Formats: sequence, C-alpha cells, structure tokens
Amino acid sequence: MSKLSSSFYTTVQRNFDNAAALTDHPKGLLAQIRECNAVYQMRFPVKIGNTYEVIEAYRVQHSQHRQPTKGGIRYSAMVDQEEVMALASLMTFKCAIVDVPFGGAKGGIKISPRKYSVDELQKITRRYTVELIKKGFIGPSVDVPAPDYGTGEREMAWILDTYQTFSRGEIDAVGCVTGKPVSQNGIRGRTEATGRGVYYGLREACSHEDDMKEIGLTKGIAGKRIVVQGFGNVGTYSASISQDEGDAIIVGIAEWNVTLYNPDGIDIAKLIKYKKKKGSILGFPGAKALKDKDEWVSIDCDILIPAALENQITSKNARKIKAKIIAEAANGPITAGGEAILNKKGLMILPDMYLNAGGVTVSYFEWLKNLSHMRFGRMEKRFNQNTYANIIGTVEKLTEKSISAKEKRLITRGADEIDLVRSGLEETMVMAYKNIRDIKKRRRKITDLRTAAFISALDKVANDYIAMGVFP
Ligand code: NAD
Repeated sequence: MSKLSSSFYTTVQRNFDNAAALTDHPKGLLAQIRECNAVYQMRFPVKIGNTYEVIEAYRVQHSQHRQPTKGGIRYSAMVDQEEVMALASLMTFKCAIVDVPFGGAKGGIKISPRKYSVDELQKITRRYTVELIKKGFIGPSVDVPAPDYGTGEREMAWILDTYQTFSRGEIDAVGCVTGKPVSQNGIRGRTEATGRGVYYGLREACSHEDDMKEIGLTKGIAGKRIVVQGFGNVGTYSASISQDEGDAIIVGIAEWNVTLYNPDGIDIAKLIKYKKKKGSILGFPGAKALKDKDEWVSIDCDILIPAALENQITSKNARKIKAKIIAEAANGPITAGGEAILNKKGLMILPDMYLNAGGVTVSYFEWLKNLSHMRFGRMEKRFNQNTYANIIGTVEKLTEKSISAKEKRLITRGADEIDLVRSGLEETMVMAYKNIRDIKKRRRKITDLRTAAFISALDKVANDYIAMGVFP
C-alpha cells in the first residue's frame, strides 16, 4: 500500500472524525457511516502484445444506505485499495450534500492509460466490467459507475456495451453507467458538468461581500485571477467557463510536464485547441513556461483550483500559496498538514465533496433520463413555446406595441435538454452552498467550510439510517 494514498484515506477519516465530534449522533451510527461497506479487490489477466499482464483493480461501495451506489472509475498507476476507499467515502458525503439519492462508491484500475493502445484499453475495460457483473457490482439499481481521472465517455460506452451483452431483456440496462456519449444514451452537459459545477460554486462563494471582505477580496468572480492545476476534463471546463461566463482571468495553467503563466490572462479556447493538436500544453505560444513546473503553487493569484489529483498541497508547499481561495476541483488535493497551514493563514477552502459534485449531479439526471427512456424537455418544450407566444401576443394586443422578432424568439424559447441540465445543476450548487454556509455561520465551533460540509452530509446520512429503523 503506498504511503501517499494511505494518507489520503487517513485525511478523509480524520476530517470525518473532526466533524462527527461536533454532532450528537450515537457512536455506533457514526462508525457505520464512517466505514466502507464492501471492498472488491480483483486481479485478472489481459493479453497485451505477446504476453499476459495481470491487472489489479477495485470497486468499493462505501455506503448502501441509498441505492444504487454511485462513483467514477479511475485509471492511474497510483490506484490502490486505500485510494479507492477514500474516493468512495467522499462520494457518499458528496451525494448527500447535493441531495442526490445514491450511496457512495468508486472504482479504480491500476494502469497508466498512456502506456496502452486504444484496443488494449478496451480489452481491460471490458474485462473489468465482466468482473463487476460476475460479482453483482454493477447495474442500474445496484451500482452505477461514471468517468473519473483517466477515463471518459469512450470507456463508459465500452462498459455499457459489455453490460448489455450480459443483460438481454433488462429494460433499464442503459442506466448501468453514466457519462456515456450522448448518442449512447448519455445526457447533454455531462462532460462539462464537474467544471461547470466548480464555476457555479466559486461564483456563489464570491457573491457574499462579507465573506470576501474577511479574506481580503472584493465581491464577485469577475476580474479574479485564477490558477488551475491539471488541464484534463475538470480543469479545462473549470477554466473555460470561469473565463467565458464569469469574466475571470486565468493567469496560470499547470500540467504534469509544464506550468504556463501569463499575468494578462491565457486564452483558454486557444490552449484547448493547441492541446488537442499537440497532445500537450508544452510549447503553447500564448504564455511563458515557468522554469520550475512545481511553481504553480506560488503564482500570484486570487483563486487556486487544484484539478489533478490528491495530495498536491502539502506541509511542504502550502506556505508558498498566495491565493485567498482554494477551490478543490480534484478530490483530496490538500493533505492534513497542508490544510493546517492554510487554515492558519485564514484562506477560504471550498471543499471537494461540495465543489466537484456537479459531475454526480448531472450523472443523476442522466440516470433519471435512462430510467424514463425520454430526453428532458421533449414533452413540454413546444407547449411552453406556444404558451409564451400567446402571452406575448396578448400583451402586444393590449398595449398596441410590438417587440422585435429577435426579442420574441428569446422570450418564447422553450427549454432544451441542455438548458434544463444547466439550470438543474446551477440550482443544486447554489442551494448546497447556502446550506453549508448557513451551518458554518450558525455554529460557532465550526470555523471552516469542510467541517460544515461534512456535518451537512453526516446529518442527512444519519437521518436515512434512523428512518430505515437501523438505529432507533
Ligand atoms: P483527467 O484525467 O481528465 O485530467 C487530469 C489531468 O491532470 C490530466 O490532464 C493530467 O495530465 C493532469 N495531471 C496529472 N498529474 C499532474 C500533476 N502532477 N500536475 C499537473 N497536472 C497533472 O481527470 P479529471 O476527470 O479531470 O479528474 C481530475 C480530478 O477531478 C480528480 O481528482 C477526480 O477524482 C476529480 N473529479 C472528476 C470528476 C469527473 O467528472 N471527471 C468528478 C468529480 C471529481
């Protein structure tokens, strides 16, 4: 077991214990919520080239108090049991915070995807899915995976196809996995969901003048200087949406091989195109490459968004941070030692289990779409359009004034699936933040948003167990 991930799990459990100590829930109930309910560790052979490789993989269901359980699948050479346990635990709390009715789970395959061809990745993914099917660890009402670090809609399509091969006649089979391509029963807005959620969460946090004043910032996300570590799915969308919709300035982007810096702002759309063409952000002409790639941490900025992996901000580099807000787009990016330093400095930390919950929120919408077998907006879009057009027509008649065709089109537009997904996500992120902020404001002993978020989650999960009659 690697030292690194073991400390990630320890950090999650320590944070849980700190919050649990501030609640009145019975000890047995807290112990039940704290531990992982089921851990499936597997080894299977896959033919790679001329030899067989034995692949190490996991699926952990942290809590089955609500079913199905839900959580992404990670492909990384650093995967091990404790890492997956930590991520599965966070999923339970994440779902509770945003009122998504799932228990938490997570999967991981210990491979570096860059070292395998697409065909080999497909073989590994399909074999992993078969292992999950054999043990009943996947299914629309049991356990529903999704993308995470190193995986995306391509892998989800392979999982779906494999599951369907073994589930002839199961009418809801397409709900066995989320984050699928739209053409394969996915939902519009899922790929961007985590990054978009990060933006909504940040925008909400920055909208409270008194909170901003406390950390020496002005109200509003517009004009805030942001650094993002990790330019994959979550980092890319966090950066582009903050820039395009929030008018924030992205002054730094860090990847595993380089950190880019431009105090006037990096054009994120151009950087995305560049990365697609070259396969890396290295050599991008719109910013300068810092001499030391690890210096992303000390760039002068207002907001730092770690969006790569756990354990990136530690007791070794936390003192260098100049940002006033750390927005945890990644899971577990701050170690306990790092957090102690940041709390002393009086920074605001937007915790992972709240801030990156946009992915699971839209996964929930996708799962609902799959179970209802219909695209969102299909029933009501035209009806709403006609109703709005009638209202405008009546107002025009009564006032004897008319509005332009362009204005009319805007006002009478009915909502498409993407509009509904985005508004559902925005509502979820805004309401969850208000709830966490309220908990922090109401209870004097709570001085940070992470503890407040844990308490929000803990209370909800505890109430579920009590309602089930498990803990009278
Ligand atoms: P991804 O694989 O799409 O992207 C990760 C990026 O980080 C890659 O570009 C990689 O090169 C980069 N990276 C790796 N090591 C780095 C380093 N040392 N410094 C800088 N960059 C580095 O993964 P993702 O889906 O964007 O996930 C990122 C984080 O967000 C993970 O912690 C994941 O658990 C979390 N998360 C993802 C989702 C989701 O929907 N994908 C949802 C919630 C949370």
